[in-house]
Amino acid sequence: SQLGEKRPGLVITNFGKRLLVESEDGQLHNCAVRQHLGKLVAGDTVTWQADIEPNTGVVVAADPRHQELSRPGFRGQKRMVAANIDLLGIVAPIEPGVHPDMIDRYLVTAHQMHLPVLILINKIDLMASDEHWEAIAELLLPYDELGLDILPVSAESGDGIEALRTLLTGKNSVFVGPSGAGKSSLIKALIPDIDIKTSALSESTGLGKHTTTNSILYHLPEEADVNPGHAGNIIDSPGVRQFSPMPCELHELEAAYPDFAPFLGQCKFNNCTHTTEPNCAIRQAVEDGELHYSRYQSFQRLREEFANEPH
Ligand code: GDP
Ligand code: ZN
Repeated sequence: SQLGEKRPGLVITNFGKRLLVESEDGQLHNCAVRQHLGKLVAGDTVTWQADIEPNTGVVVAADPRHQELSRPGFRGQKRMVAANIDLLGIVAPIEPGVHPDMIDRYLVTAHQMHLPVLILINKIDLMASDEHWEAIAELLLPYDELGLDILPVSAESGDGIEALRTLLTGKNSVFVGPSGAGKSSLIKALIPDIDIKTSALSESTGLGKHTTTNSILYHLPEEADVNPGHAGNIIDSPGVRQFSPMPCELHELEAAYPDFAPFLGQCKFNNCTHTTEPNCAIRQAVEDGELHYSRYQSFQRLREEFANEPH
């Protein structure tokens, strides 16, 4: 036919039934998609062929994914949001406050999506005193004990941004967190020309600047001395920013709490909800100070929430 040779490509975003595909030379191509391929999203890698019109093409094959980010959609069905994510950045601001419950929800999501996490303590320019920092460090103790990476940053002052850039190197990352946590500000600190990039994308898709709610992949800028050749990408969208965990069974929720693991087998009942059952090893561990109460609390909130939802 009139299509060009088969070439590898990276999906930058999906819009309508089409994809914006980046070729290896960095050019963008507005592509139709062969129907049998199903829904493809930012982060997917594909095979595409150029069409006659300049900067258009057809996606003819998709590579297997190593990871899928999906969210609960209509009637609990999964909705694909992004593909091949390597890192979930949980943005927790010290103002209005670090909320362990929020962090724990995202940790459950990360477990469900098979994602390593990085906890970003943002707005540290607003740190008032040593006592302020100590109070926050205490809230973060469970995460430190879980061996999670915790990075204090400030999108405002730039503190920690270069360390963050290093941790994002070579990865596809997504930032999540409550509205106002500073996700946009952090992305802008990492990618200063993001507005220009967004304009270029809306030109390539023929869509207005703010009409797409789908995920978009942005390249982090390369810096010769930090990340030559593989700076990494940020995938962002209104849909990924406030991500809820999927309702799941009790044992899957327990599996998302690795700090519970040493005690779980010791409850009297195998289906123990760790609320009022006799001989509950989890409640005992909380009492003995071997489990943090905040972790127990967030677990119970999610358990109750999931019990009322279809899964
Ligand atoms: P998002 O909703 O998570 O994308 O949050 P934004 O990036 O829009 O930030 C929310 C507000 O917090 C804005 O007024 C930002 O200027 C402010 N903000 C973001 N990061 C910082 C920071 O590191 N320090 C301070 N002081 N303010 C910040
Ligand atoms: Zn129990």
